Amino acid sequence: MHDVYNRVDKKLVEFLWDEGCDLLFDEPLSAHVSFRLGGKVRLFVIPNSLNSFIVAISSFKNEGIEYRIIGKGTNILPSDEYKDFIVVSTERIDEVKTSDGYVYSTAGTPFKKLCLFAMENGLSGLEKAYGLPGSVGGAIYMNAGCYGWETSERVVEIDVYDGKNIFTISNLEAEFEYRTSLFKKNKDLIILGAKFKLCPDNIEHIKSLMTETIRKRYEKQPLEYPSAGSVFKRPRPDFYVGTAIESLGLKGYSVGDAQVSEKHAGFIINKGNAKANDVFELMDFVKAKIKQAYQVDLETEIEIWQ
Ligand SMILES: Cc1cc2nc3c(=O)[nH]c(=O)nc-3n(C[C@H](O)[C@H](O)[C@H](O)COP(=O)(O)OP(=O)(O)OC[C@H]3O[C@@H](n4cnc5c(N)ncnc54)[C@H](O)[C@@H]3O)c2cc1C
Repeated sequence: MHDVYNRVDKKLVEFLWDEGCDLLFDEPLSAHVSFRLGGKVRLFVIPNSLNSFIVAISSFKNEGIEYRIIGKGTNILPSDEYKDFIVVSTERIDEVKTSDGYVYSTAGTPFKKLCLFAMENGLSGLEKAYGLPGSVGGAIYMNAGCYGWETSERVVEIDVYDGKNIFTISNLEAEFEYRTSLFKKNKDLIILGAKFKLCPDNIEHIKSLMTETIRKRYEKQPLEYPSAGSVFKRPRPDFYVGTAIESLGLKGYSVGDAQVSEKHAGFIINKGNAKANDVFELMDFVKAKIKQAYQVDLETEIEIWQ
């Protein structure tokens, strides 16, 4: 621990501690991503409040230190190599409240918690997203969607931090498109929280729709294994990647412990001891097969952290 501590810069470490951040040195990312794989990172920072989060980011910006934000780590594939950057977690920036007919959630709130909060308050609009893993910040970042629903449908405005100032942007300014947003294009912009517009409805009705959504997820997705969800983006609205991969007989195809799921061919699962390199190799293989069969170039939906 002392060796690592010395490598990180004592002044910065003491500053972060004083400002209310918990610090993990030489931390394996496998402990923080749903894929359960990936190498160690030099420093993993867990701010205990929104204020500590802002202070931490501001100090990294001022010092020119490379950092990345992690929500729940359900869309990240970290490589096996040691990482010299710092990872900052939003996991303790977890608040959701309602006022004036809107729901406000901070970035680290689990999306599931937001859905349950809406249901308990008789507010409809998130039923199809129930069971979407990850945080509110992660969902906005990639405009997560499922069953014809997209995060952008319900977001009114977003509070953003750019390392210097906090400001609010509108839904339109967030440049939402299929599985992307302004935040994916401009990594200097950090999502602090967002206001959602939902509609009053009967709690029992909302609950039954949510139950139906979760039933579909369990039926179709390999939730019993670690993964990062669908690996590839749909290249066009009428091209279903999972179906195409299945048509090539690739369900169950493995490289090491990384496997094309037998339940849903759009998922790659970790059967136990997969390395990121196994997943990379498997992804390349699938891409090449799809290109050969359908002349389609697949793009990854999951974020690769080298
Ligand atoms: C079993 C399973 C099923 C899934 N099903 C779906 C699905 O149906 N639909 C779908 O769209 N996705 C799905 N996913 C993918 C994933 O759950 C979503 O993309 C989710 O929204 C990611 O949120 P996260 O908090 O885990 O983000 P992370 O994985 O932690 O981060 C993803 C990216 O967002 C950035 N980010 C996170 N928070 C912030 C912030 N506050 N400010 C700026 N950048 C930020 C990170 O830096 C990173 O680049 C699934 C994943 C799994 C494991």
